[in-house]
Amino acid sequence: MPRSRRAPSRSRPRRARPKLPADWKPPPAPERVVRVDLGEEPHAHIVCRNCGRIQAIELTDLDRHVLTELAGRHPDGWSVDGIAFSATGACRRCREGPAA
Ligand SMILES: [Zn+2]
Repeated sequence: MPRSRRAPSRSRPRRARPKLPADWKPPPAPERVVRVDLGEEPHAHIVCRNCGRIQAIELTDLDRHVLTELAGRHPDGWSVDGIAFSATGACRRCREGPAA
C-alpha cells in the first residue's frame, strides 16, 4: 500500500477573539469618510440557510467601528440609515438534529 505523504488532518484551532485594551478608543475617522446617521447601533447576525433561524452575533467596539467606517464609504448619492452584518450557515439543530 502506498504511503501518504500528507500529515493526518487535524481540525484547525479556533482563533481567539482579539482582546482590546480597556482604554481602547476607535481612531478618529479620516476626513474623507462621510459619517452615517444611524437609527440604531450596527449589529450582526447569522442566518441558518436550512431553517431560517436568526441569531445575534456579539460585536466589539472595534467591530462596530469597522462596520461604521465601511458604511461611510457608500457610493455618492446614497444615505445610510442602518448597518447590519449578516453571516449564513447552518444552526446547531440543523447540523446535529432536534436533540441538540
Ligand atoms: Zn437551522
